[in-house]
Amino acid sequence: MIEQVAIVGAGQAAVQAIDVLRRQHFAGGITLIGEEAGPPYQRPPLSKGYLAGTVASERLLLRPRTFYEQRAVTTLFGRRVEEIVRRERRLRLDDGRTVPYDALLLATGSRARPLALPGADLDPVLTLRTAADADRIRAACAVGGRVVIVGGGYLGLEVAATLRAQGAIVTVLEQAGRVLSRVACPPVSAFYTAEHERRGVRIVCGAGVREIVAHEGQNRVRAVITEDGETHLADAVVIGAGAQPVTELAAAAGLACGDGIEVDEYCRTSDLSIYAAGDCTHHPSLHYGRKLRLESVDNAFEQGASAALNLMGRPTPHDKVPWFWSDQYDLKLVIVGIGADHDAIVLRGDPAGRAFSACYLRGGELIALESVNMPRDQLAARKLIAARARPDPQRLADPGRPLQDAC
Ligand SMILES: Cc1cc2nc3c(=O)[nH]c(=O)nc-3n(C[C@H](O)[C@H](O)[C@H](O)COP(=O)(O)OP(=O)(O)OC[C@H]3O[C@@H](n4cnc5c(N)ncnc54)[C@H](O)[C@@H]3O)c2cc1C
Repeated sequence: MIEQVAIVGAGQAAVQAIDVLRRQHFAGGITLIGEEAGPPYQRPPLSKGYLAGTVASERLLLRPRTFYEQRAVTTLFGRRVEEIVRRERRLRLDDGRTVPYDALLLATGSRARPLALPGADLDPVLTLRTAADADRIRAACAVGGRVVIVGGGYLGLEVAATLRAQGAIVTVLEQAGRVLSRVACPPVSAFYTAEHERRGVRIVCGAGVREIVAHEGQNRVRAVITEDGETHLADAVVIGAGAQPVTELAAAAGLACGDGIEVDEYCRTSDLSIYAAGDCTHHPSLHYGRKLRLESVDNAFEQGASAALNLMGRPTPHDKVPWFWSDQYDLKLVIVGIGADHDAIVLRGDPAGRAFSACYLRGGELIALESVNMPRDQLAARKLIAARARPDPQRLADPGRPLQDAC
């Protein structure tokens, strides 16, 4: 009988789990422990509206402060869980307090991947994961200041777009041959490169960073030096080198961890009283027949909900086609599904029109879609991919025809 649920990590997955637990009439105790100072908030605006100063901090909150009280959740914010004592089913916190549990949900998220570079400790060399990080970036990147962003993934490009619109002089250094290389196909990368360059962002690909150097006799950043010896002057450096799952707590407790906390499709870890959800998990995708680690709101939301139902004893496999969005300037990129292992890509529409999709096929089956400013395509794709639709490539390429008509 589950009487006490403890949740470690106060983010998107945790909030969703709490919501589902109470909606499903879980009457036991819920304790939420999060090391950040306040209630859970949305991270996507941190590289967009919040960084631009157009979204206030109170509007970041995932739920109003009253949400937790109304659902009889004991909240311990600004507290870190130091240890899971599995034998006794209790948590040890950084203030020495103990929290007992019958079922535990780990929702510890991910953190910005640090770069072990000479000069990475100079001021200001910043990463972006929390609202406090966004505050630091905003303060360090003044109008007319030179900002070098290391990493041309979605986060680096969103920060580039926001800071450029604020009047900063922005350079993006990407080690790979193209931006967004981990998440998007070459035509989408080329499109985003052109859009950034059109607005004055300098994008340099194939640019591995060798070191960050300071002004003489100071610890203030002066420039970023790439492996080819080129000097990129900078008043501030933002590192966007991806994220890594927060697994130390789980690993120290002896739970199986690889590229994240290992869970099954029911969000169960290798200890059946401990579940995990969100960015911190390495989980199976039944649809794709492989394990995934995802960093997206959708995944945290869906896994949080699924974990809550499972720990209440209502078996609910997590088996959704994942999706993700990125906002840069007036462009909305939505990625649906997992395109790895594709054998063909069909473009719908012309990137020059600033609204197009790239459809990924494997053996004729639609497995993923990347769309720019094509909301109808991405909504249809979610259903078609789940249904393992096999579109006709010629009809698929016709943007005038609804996506579903190609199947
Ligand atoms: C700048 C930025 C922009 C993004 N933009 C998008 C976007 O446009 N679209 C999209 O889909 N996704 C986006 N994401 C990703 C998305 O925000 C994450 O996938 C999502 O927040 C993951 O939620 P989570 O609950 O798994 O973890 P998190 O939100 O990371 O929450 C985990 C919490 O656990 C806490 N914690 C960890 N260990 C402990 C411990 N031992 N004790 C107590 N607390 C602990 C952490 O401090 C953290 O507060 C963005 C992320 C960032 C950083």
